[in-house]
Amino acid sequence: MQAQTKVSDLTADQTKADAEVAAVRARRDRDQTRLDSGQITNPKDLQSIQNEIVALDRRIGSLEDAELEVMEELEAAQSELALATDALASLDARIADEFSALEESTREIDASAEALLAERGGATERVADALLTLYEKVRKTHGGVGAAALRHKRCEGCRLEINGADLREIAGKPSDEVLRCPECDRILVRTHDAGL
Ligand SMILES: [Zn+2]
Repeated sequence: MQAQTKVSDLTADQTKADAEVAAVRARRDRDQTRLDSGQITNPKDLQSIQNEIVALDRRIGSLEDAELEVMEELEAAQSELALATDALASLDARIADEFSALEESTREIDASAEALLAERGGATERVADALLTLYEKVRKTHGGVGAAALRHKRCEGCRLEINGADLREIAGKPSDEVLRCPECDRILVRTHDAGL
């Protein structure tokens, strides 16, 4: 993340600035100690060390100004990072919410698909049972042939041609409806060449 990089860069800058200030300050303290010790008596040396202390103080001042600037920038970058982190966290939370809502819908769809399949299975069994019962019943009373094909307008059970009105009625029935021959009452099975 960009804000993260900025914070680490500025943290490194601040550490460097701290070290620079500390180094210059240590040197100034050494000079001051030498000056205070009274061991330097040569006026030229005294002047030179005093000049250096003045120069070091100036240097410390400007380093501290720079350090302050870095600190201010770092604080700004840190609040920017905090904002970005919050935004990211709320985005994560939203994604998690939407994901669980999606999972919930998926579970609901799965459950209703399962229920529909079970219902369909039951219905198929009931239809198959009813048809089988009918077939057995018709077969017993029709010389062992319970169902016959409808081919070329003719029932292949009783071999009779079916009249136009009955054919039109048959043609209008849904393809999954169980038909009966109007002549012999057998179950009539439509073929591709039924002649409808
Ligand atoms: Zn028939």
